[in-house]
Amino acid sequence: MRMLGIETSCDETAASVVELGDDGAPRILSNVVLSQIEDHAAFGGVVPEIAARAHVETLDGVIEAALDEAGVPLGAVDGIAATAGPGLIGGLIVGFMTAKAVAAAAGKTLVPVNHLEGHALTARLTDGLDFPYLLLLVSGGHTQVVLVRGVGDYERWASTIDDALGEAFDKTAKLLGLPYPGGPNVERQAARGDPRRFSFPRPLRGDARLDFSFSGLKTAVRQAASAIAPLSDQDVADICAAFQLAITETLEERVGRSLTRFREAFPDLARPALVVAGGVAANKAIRAALEGLCERHGMNLVAPPLHLCTDNAAMIAWAGIERMRGGLVEDDAMGFAPRSRWPLDTGAPPVIGSGK
Ligand code: ATP
Ligand code: MG
Ligand code: FE
Repeated sequence: MRMLGIETSCDETAASVVELGDDGAPRILSNVVLSQIEDHAAFGGVVPEIAARAHVETLDGVIEAALDEAGVPLGAVDGIAATAGPGLIGGLIVGFMTAKAVAAAAGKTLVPVNHLEGHALTARLTDGLDFPYLLLLVSGGHTQVVLVRGVGDYERWASTIDDALGEAFDKTAKLLGLPYPGGPNVERQAARGDPRRFSFPRPLRGDARLDFSFSGLKTAVRQAASAIAPLSDQDVADICAAFQLAITETLEERVGRSLTRFREAFPDLARPALVVAGGVAANKAIRAALEGLCERHGMNLVAPPLHLCTDNAAMIAWAGIERMRGGLVEDDAMGFAPRSRWPLDTGAPPVIGSGK
């Protein structure tokens, strides 16, 4: 089975061809990602109108490049999977309507895919993971812990009650005068800073819920920075180091609660997995903290290669394959409308059976 995947929900225009061999092994035949980071850098964040326009201008070429690189003509794919939500509505419309048009013209099955499902199933593409496992998604737009029980069978255990984790990195970077995207720059600064000079809060520490909160942390950084402004290079590094330490300790405490609950829910699993996805998974301090945390809970940390952790179309093509082979493609996919809000654990496409 071969699937063309299309992803346009945020600031990456992406297309990919993924093949499921007769032996059951998946292969990524092409994975083209055109990042718009430079288009948005001057604004310190993603500008929806600019993103939508860039998708319009580049998507056709990106799809052609993905088919060319794979050496697969459009006629030889079995389906077209496109992100139909959640995300910026302009980009979603561009990508999903293009997929619809191509599917109609070429007589192919259209598979609407939830972007979060793409992230959730990537570890099965890269590591062949079996259900169930726990997913920690930490990106610019999402911070969630999701129980992945089967294709289309998800239970959201935690989400952020304010800022996403990547957003907290980006906003902190912005107020310290560091360039966009903030995450990598904050990490670089933190490496040469003293994490003990400032003491930032550990939001929701001790709270029985599993959720996250990061906006208070950002406010604390703003207050610390304005108290000593103008900031020297060392001040910036020290603030970044303290911020990153607060983040890693907060994740350990918050995610630790989910791991405890997972172990209680599935006591018979020998060494289950925590999968980490999203751009923030690039952060080495965070990865190290999560590795230690998993070890303490008798679990494995599975981190797909970074280019498959951040937004890409291979994960969308793969989710399309998982849905198609599971008979989970809805009949009226052509009538499906893209949606900017689309929680993973509710709404269409309907769940038909599960991998339990
Ligand atoms: P979505 O949330 O819709 O999946 P996105 O484009 O916001 O999309 P990603 O591309 O997965 O998400 O990740 C980008 C985010 O990851 C940005 O907020 C960026 O600052 C953050 N990030 C990238 N590298 C690092 C790092 N080394 N440390 C911390 N954060 C990082
Ligand atoms: Mg992105
Ligand atoms: Fe994403």
